[in-house]
Amino acid sequence: MDSSLPRWQLLPKLGQEREGEQQLSLRGVAASPGIALGRAYIVGTETAASSGQQPRTAEQEWERYRWALEQLLQELDAAQQVAQREAPAMASVIESYRLMLSESALQETVQRSIAQGSTAEEALRAALEPTIYRLRFSSDAVLRERAVELEQFLRQLVALLRNRMPQRSCARNAVVVAHALTPSDVVLFHQAGAVGLVTVVGGITSHTAIMARSLGMPAVIGLRGALSLIRVQELLVVDGYAGVVIVRPNAETLARLQRHQSRAQWRIQLAQRLARIPAQTTDGYRVRLLATVASLQDVEDALVAGAEGIGLVRTELLVLQRRGVPGEEEQYAWYRQLCQGMGEAPVTIRLFDLGAEWREAIPVLERNPALGMRGIRYMLRHPELLRAQLRAILRVAAEGFTLRLLLPLVNSAEEVRTVRQMLRELALELGYRGRLPALGSMVETPAAALGAAKLAEVSDFLSIGTNDLTQYTLAVDREHELLAEMFDPLHPAVLELMYRTAQAARAKGVPVGVCGELASHAAATELLVGMGIEELSATPGALVPLKQRIRQLSRAAAQARLERLLSGCCSNGV
Ligand code: PEP
Ligand code: MG
Repeated sequence: MDSSLPRWQLLPKLGQEREGEQQLSLRGVAASPGIALGRAYIVGTETAASSGQQPRTAEQEWERYRWALEQLLQELDAAQQVAQREAPAMASVIESYRLMLSESALQETVQRSIAQGSTAEEALRAALEPTIYRLRFSSDAVLRERAVELEQFLRQLVALLRNRMPQRSCARNAVVVAHALTPSDVVLFHQAGAVGLVTVVGGITSHTAIMARSLGMPAVIGLRGALSLIRVQELLVVDGYAGVVIVRPNAETLARLQRHQSRAQWRIQLAQRLARIPAQTTDGYRVRLLATVASLQDVEDALVAGAEGIGLVRTELLVLQRRGVPGEEEQYAWYRQLCQGMGEAPVTIRLFDLGAEWREAIPVLERNPALGMRGIRYMLRHPELLRAQLRAILRVAAEGFTLRLLLPLVNSAEEVRTVRQMLRELALELGYRGRLPALGSMVETPAAALGAAKLAEVSDFLSIGTNDLTQYTLAVDREHELLAEMFDPLHPAVLELMYRTAQAARAKGVPVGVCGELASHAAATELLVGMGIEELSATPGALVPLKQRIRQLSRAAAQARLERLLSGCCSNGV
């Protein structure tokens, strides 16, 4: 989830509870959707400060360190095995931390400090903190999140040095509340039966949040007061849709929760029944429901939910997980696997939207990464990278799969033309005989939305990325923990740009879809149908509720409602 969207929250809003009631609502950032109820299991914080123990010899300190590291590496092995089964795309993340922590350079630095008289804790801190500080003060949100994860590994090693082993088995049916969690913590707590997660720090693109989403564990992060306001064993409701945690829920909240859970149960049964019927309004307007995926597991979920194809593959997650850009062969194998999972249904591969993730692999100094070298502008400046990706896509298409290609952060028709020309040249080079994959432009900037007619002339389809369109229209960082309230994809200015895009595309006869988070929210579906959106690409878990919603709507009524809304906004001077 990119943002907390208060209008869709299922539970009481902040401040709704009356004086004297015990219930407390705390707002954080929605990191993994779903609702969980459980008692708080608080993970103790262990500062990396010196332990104040009796002096030991250097050999003893080194032995302590080796023992603690061995314990942690065993944990990571266990977590990796579980991840391989339950969130395969994320297993490599754990492996990368395992490699980092067992690197010989790190061991040598620790050993040297210990030989010079440091305790194991001090040596560890001296070895890891420079990297943590460098990452923490980076201008890049993704790198700052790596700092949080690495710091958490440091805390765990310190806890192990003090013989404080994590008691994960006690977290069964509980909500884990922690300052921060590592991706391996998430896997192991999930395996121990924990039902939800709450952390004080962290961002939605952290590995920890991605892991929670992959495992289907509701999570709220960035909840600053969590450790001071939540006590051990207190009953908590984690609303991972709205980014709200309710402490000591009252009877009314619990009843609402129960209704939600029986609805969820009902939805599962309905999913099987609805999977094969079309997403069509009462007056016959057909919407194509596609899934947004980042892993093979997501593809399976998409199929179960009756997806008619894949509307967005976030390929850059492959880069993030491998900590580097994969070559043509690896991409070919991955795209092929995705397509095999979907059979004849279309699969929309987005060109790498390489922003912060890429810079982790090869540092590039950028003062403002969101406005910098990312998306199609990055790819066009790195033709070798672009060629490798296009070749991999063409090779899979040559095997008869229906592939579509999507260009991220397009600002001009010229960018699309250049890619199309390159695609033609590569097709010749490869002896490709079939139809070229359809080429789509993402509409993610106000410039693209206002220039949608021009984009539609050179594109085979348009897909509105509401996450970035909201960020760039409202000038609100989509990952800013303190501005989550202002990040509103239903802001009239954003709606107006989407509407113009849809109208421009329809006028040119080019299909238009939405692939940002807004597509997943049934509460927004009426507006999207009203605009004439023809495709929605949503998380697999959202597809069934979306289909139900679409089947209740009338396109004519939705359009009239949208037009009333937009004219009301304009006359109010928005
Ligand atoms: C978007 O911006 O809405 C989108 C779908 O792309 P991403 O979230 O990957 O930037
Ligand atoms: Mg985007």
